[in-house]
Amino acid sequence: MSLASLQATVERDQAAIDLVVAQLAGRFGDRFSTSDALREQHGHTTTWLPNQWPDGVAFVRSTEEVAEIVRLCAEHGVAIVPFGTGSSLEGHVNAPAGGISIDLSQMNDVLEVHPEDLDCRVQAGVTRKQINEHLRDTGLFFPIDPGADASLGGMAATRASGTNAVRYGTMKDAVLGLTAVMANGEIIHTGGRAKKSSAGYDLTRLLIGSEGTLGIITELTLRLHGIPEAIAGGVCAFPDLESACSAVILTIQCGIPVARIELLDALQVKACNAYSKLDLAESPTLFVEFHGTDASVREQSELFGSIARECGGGEFSWATKAEDRSRLWAARHDAYWAALGLRPGARGVSTDVCVPISRLAECIGETYRDIEKMGLIAPIVGHVGDGNFHVLVLVDVDSQDEIAKAEEFVERLNWRALDMEGTCTGEHGVGQGKMKYLAREHGAGLDVMRTIKRALDPHGILNPGKIVRLDRDSDNVSP
Ligand SMILES: Cc1cc2nc3c(=O)[nH]c(=O)nc-3n(C[C@H](O)[C@H](O)[C@H](O)COP(=O)(O)OP(=O)(O)OC[C@H]3O[C@@H](n4cnc5c(N)ncnc54)[C@H](O)[C@@H]3O)c2cc1C
Repeated sequence: MSLASLQATVERDQAAIDLVVAQLAGRFGDRFSTSDALREQHGHTTTWLPNQWPDGVAFVRSTEEVAEIVRLCAEHGVAIVPFGTGSSLEGHVNAPAGGISIDLSQMNDVLEVHPEDLDCRVQAGVTRKQINEHLRDTGLFFPIDPGADASLGGMAATRASGTNAVRYGTMKDAVLGLTAVMANGEIIHTGGRAKKSSAGYDLTRLLIGSEGTLGIITELTLRLHGIPEAIAGGVCAFPDLESACSAVILTIQCGIPVARIELLDALQVKACNAYSKLDLAESPTLFVEFHGTDASVREQSELFGSIARECGGGEFSWATKAEDRSRLWAARHDAYWAALGLRPGARGVSTDVCVPISRLAECIGETYRDIEKMGLIAPIVGHVGDGNFHVLVLVDVDSQDEIAKAEEFVERLNWRALDMEGTCTGEHGVGQGKMKYLAREHGAGLDVMRTIKRALDPHGILNPGKIVRLDRDSDNVSP
């Protein structure tokens, strides 16, 4: 994807931007920056997608400050890009129309914890590790764990998930309510602390996954879970990807309430061995974890063990000590950085898809054959219990050939997932990278999304050039 194609339909008004930048510099002092380093850091930095800087970065501390900036930008038609930690992978925080990046990382207070109701209220800049650190002595935890230490606001905005989603759900299940600033600067509160509600349109879930294009989330009410009495887990190697996928499919179809079940292909295991100093056999491997009582965990483990054996898996290697389990899961969370180490100097073209569980083996099998046929260095790793997997293609960004080949591979993978009644993204979101798949995935539903966008952000100032365009869908092309 070239810089020109990313900029195709978004416009910038330099005079308006200069005016807003001057006003914000006066209002926010050293909490507003136009330095090159900060602007670059607030564009897309995680993958090969070209970086597009905002014109200034504002570090906000309250919902009212966010509303004040939004009102100013709305008045002058200047673009706004909300920013959590910038760990998104599809160009989400790029600023193709320039404008103001609103960085919420200083809004990092845990406001309330209600252990008796298993919920809490946090500012949007709190990260997933910070909330769990805060909850450490309460016997509760927040389960959603993307590989990066992302902000909870960013995680809600991308409808993130992670290794625990197969048991505990994604951000759509974890968020009970939100405070958000809408495109006209109005502050709204959605949802609440009640476990369920039938009161009107579900604005909470409209904002979840909207990637900063409909509103800016400033606070979240989150559902928490009790730390299980017993946790057991370990790794199991398989002779090939197909047998590993078959074990996953059977585990899910048998209703074993596995807490985590993650696949690493042989190349990814090799990368993790080197990066995280493990000594796993270099073949397709499942990382598995069970939560419950001593008895239920034992029963789940035995059932999984017999399924794994039936599918040709090797001995299950238990991580009985908590520190051994932490080491394994830390390695899993570092899989992305480990993969980059396979080809020093290369950058990653990252993609994720999700298919119905019964199509998982077929989808991963065809994808693996594509990788081999195209001669790519591209480890596969996935939250396979959900039918979700990722491929990171390592490319030399100075080689147009390599980029074109990686793009072709990514396209083929996305169309394949859609052909199998899956989705073009299970968790990373649309950003700039996945816009072209939405027409095929949603059909006329994409026009409904456009109508919602137009109604809530008529001037298109909130994160323009992401998910849907206001007035054209030229990027939404199916093969
Ligand atoms: C190593 C690595 C591993 C990853 N693993 C996973 C994984 O397992 N699962 C997964 O789901 N993702 C994963 N990701 C992707 C990424 O961590 C998630 O998309 C995460 O939710 C982004 O959060 P963030 O705070 O970094 O958001 P950002 O990248 O800062 O922003 C993401 C999007 O949300 C918008 N946004 C940010 N904050 C707000 C807000 N307060 N209100 C409204 N909009 C906002 C931004 O404008 C942007 O469109 C991984 C990324 C990396 C680098």
